[in-house]
Amino acid sequence: MKESEMQIALHKNTNWLKAYSLAWKFIDLVYPPECIGCGKIGFRCCPDCWDTRGLYGQDICRTCGKPLYSSLTCVNCISESSPLEKIRSVGEYDGMLRNYILALKYHRNIGLAELILPDLCRTLINSHFNFEMLIPVPLNKTRQRERGYNQVAIWGKLLEKMIGIPMDSSVILRVRNTISQVTLPAEKRSENVRGAFSVKSDIVNGKNILLLDDVITTGATLIECATVLKNAGAKQISALTIARSSIKKVITEGGIHVTKN
Ligand SMILES: [Zn+2]
Ligand SMILES: [Zn+2]
Repeated sequence: MKESEMQIALHKNTNWLKAYSLAWKFIDLVYPPECIGCGKIGFRCCPDCWDTRGLYGQDICRTCGKPLYSSLTCVNCISESSPLEKIRSVGEYDGMLRNYILALKYHRNIGLAELILPDLCRTLINSHFNFEMLIPVPLNKTRQRERGYNQVAIWGKLLEKMIGIPMDSSVILRVRNTISQVTLPAEKRSENVRGAFSVKSDIVNGKNILLLDDVITTGATLIECATVLKNAGAKQISALTIARSSIKKVITEGGIHVTKN
């Protein structure tokens, strides 16, 4: 999608989004929330706390989006090919972005979802992705049943309304349950998700797709999803996540950088 098209599309469904936002404002008036950072009453996340989130700048790997000291391609992306064209994340899985993701995922704080929209749109515009369909990474069936919702599909729906590009949550199915990736060391994660997904090929055949997920760590889940999409005939696949968990990182004045993968 070209940048100019994005600018036009950004205005498409503002009425729907305004109504959505108003509905949450009304709920928050009746049941005042607490800030996920400082506990201040009346905010889901107060502006002071939200301003502390660690956003990525331009110094990221052009392919996998990992923070670097310059905008080049990282050693891993040079040496290994990936079914994913590009990966981009809003910022680092730390501090307020981590609080945000956990509150949305585990504490049913769904009213928080719209807060990330401007960051997602900014990341999209800077990323020059090529896509005509949004697909959220599906949850484990048991987890979805317990939680009652897929948090990625919630902000994905808002993004769909914002940019006017359809999201389909039913395209990728989890055909077998996997152990939660967070409990596994990096080298076990690819193995854990191998063969976990199936795809409705008639829907994705010939399409350019943007996969959505909340956090990327090793990328094993996104790579597995992209592999099944490719096998089902999808053309180009990229991924957008709210945060990235860098295994080793140093925080300097210029932003967040990884020292080594
Ligand atoms: Zn606060
Ligand atoms: Zn890279």
